[in-house]
Amino acid sequence: MDFLPLARPDIGELEQRYVQDALRSNRLAGGPWLQRFEQLMRDVCGVEFAVGVSSGTAALHLIVQALGIRPGDEVLTTPFSFIASSNCLLYVGARPRFVDIDPGTLNLDTTLLEGALTPHTRAVLAVDVFGQPADWPELARFCRTHDLHLIADSCEALGASIGGMPVGSWGEAAAFGFYPNKQITTGEGGCVTTGRSDIAAHCRSARNQGRATDDRMEHVVLGYNYRLDELSAALGCAQLERLPELLAGRSERALWYGEALAELQDDVVLPGAGPGKRSWFVYVVQLAPSFSRAHRDELLALLTNRGIGCAPYFPALHLQPYYRERFGYAPGAFPICESVSDRSLALPFFSGMRPEHVARVARELQEALARLRR
Ligand SMILES: *Cc1c(COP(=O)(O)O)cnc(C)c1O
Repeated sequence: MDFLPLARPDIGELEQRYVQDALRSNRLAGGPWLQRFEQLMRDVCGVEFAVGVSSGTAALHLIVQALGIRPGDEVLTTPFSFIASSNCLLYVGARPRFVDIDPGTLNLDTTLLEGALTPHTRAVLAVDVFGQPADWPELARFCRTHDLHLIADSCEALGASIGGMPVGSWGEAAAFGFYPNKQITTGEGGCVTTGRSDIAAHCRSARNQGRATDDRMEHVVLGYNYRLDELSAALGCAQLERLPELLAGRSERALWYGEALAELQDDVVLPGAGPGKRSWFVYVVQLAPSFSRAHRDELLALLTNRGIGCAPYFPALHLQPYYRERFGYAPGAFPICESVSDRSLALPFFSGMRPEHVARVARELQEALARLRR
């Protein structure tokens, strides 16, 4: 039986053509494809500035730097995320202050923010987990009230919106990532979107070795090589032009899953609805609260053995070995996050899935659950 992967990029003829064109142009870095990609990102996010970079992690690093977050500062953020949303704070010597999540949306529980404030709090960094927009209107209100920066990790949510505004336009700046499992891919790549010219200027300079302007050998700040090459940008242009089609394909498959898994609802909690418009990134179910982490791990093994790609999304950040070691976290610190994390299971999800693939996953999940109970 074929292995059904967790994720697979959707690469068509347009992508082939654009990448070929970029290759034939002989200009493989710092050219027109990057400019076109940034223009498309500005259009999708409804912002004035977009700066293409080499990864979502690089985008986060540059934003945190641009806002002047520094050693001694604390940033309120979620422990239920991909590691980069927290690591970017460590890069500049700041300290992540984790705040537990809402069990329905899996995003930061905004009612807990106030209690986590200290005299050192400088910013909130929120994540649109699994493509569900964070409560940006409330986060913006909170940050205004307490004079804090607001940083958006929208790496999982390109195309989502809330309050009539696309993610990417919320916060002082937003980060996107285009790894091959995301809604669109550039291979490796990322982007900063912002309405602030000073943030955009910092990101442009720092991605390119701190140059004063792109074509001069004068280096005005400590920079990096976080550039996005032309082949990646060309691939990204094709993907962005196909964004509505790609997102519609993902939404349709999420609907199929909802129908196929409806009869397992006693054992499996399906992705919850939240405010705003979701952009489907992954399809993550939770086992019912009566199940343990050991059950979940056994289920992962059973499904993998049957050729179903699946993964435990996300392991709690504060319990990662590096974070435990450095900050002394122990289980119990963020109970909602840990409970969700222990029972979560990402299933195969990509726009090329056919109805029979979804049916197969549902059947295998049902059989694995039955074996678990024996
Ligand atoms: C994918 C992702 C990133 C960025 O990942 P890169 O691999 O660096 O592009 C950052 N934050 C979250 C929440 C992500 O899912």
